[in-house]
Amino acid sequence: MHEARKAAFAKTAETIIKNLKKRNIEGYYCARSADAVELVRELVPEGSSITWGGSESFAETGVKDMLLAGNYRIVDRSRATTPEEQREVWRERVCADYHFMSANAITTGGEIVNIDGNADRLSLLLHGPEHVIMLVGANKVVSDVESGVKRTRTYACPPNAARLHTETPCELTGVCAECHAPKCMCCQVVVTRHSRHTGRIKVVLIGEDLGF
Ligand code: SF4
Repeated sequence: MHEARKAAFAKTAETIIKNLKKRNIEGYYCARSADAVELVRELVPEGSSITWGGSESFAETGVKDMLLAGNYRIVDRSRATTPEEQREVWRERVCADYHFMSANAITTGGEIVNIDGNADRLSLLLHGPEHVIMLVGANKVVSDVESGVKRTRTYACPPNAARLHTETPCELTGVCAECHAPKCMCCQVVVTRHSRHTGRIKVVLIGEDLGF
């Protein structure tokens, strides 16, 4: 990332963090992914149970590898191979100490925008795990909620569709067509505008482009 963009993002992050505070959401700024890894190491006590949804940022930052290698109880949905095991892992995930995810977009005013198909990661954001930590790259910042939805459908859904082979218009043409396809990834549009639970949601703003 260009040095001027990094400097500008540090200021934008300051503004977002102030606005998150009004929403009872904790904000942190890290210039680099490596700093985010150290921050998470400080925030999450050893022995905590950890889960996550489909998040490229979680892997790209190195936070996932740090947690997998550390002294934590990992609740990985990919270990389930049967419907019964999936239900069992889901029960553990709902009661996890920490849920990791990114955001599809965050506004400069501090609203967090996420869009999901099955709502796996979003249901854990809305209720269940004791803590939610979002790792959010500079590329996710937008001016308002409408721009956040547009950003998601323009930049996040096409690569996710390619990755998951959804056969949606955004996979087949690379452009959103407001579809109602069988594997539509835009069933739920969630805007987090406030947290009732002090300290539950933490947003780590990282001065790098991360995820989709
Ligand atoms: S509404 Fe359909 S076509 Fe548009 S981004 Fe979502 S899944 Fe893709």
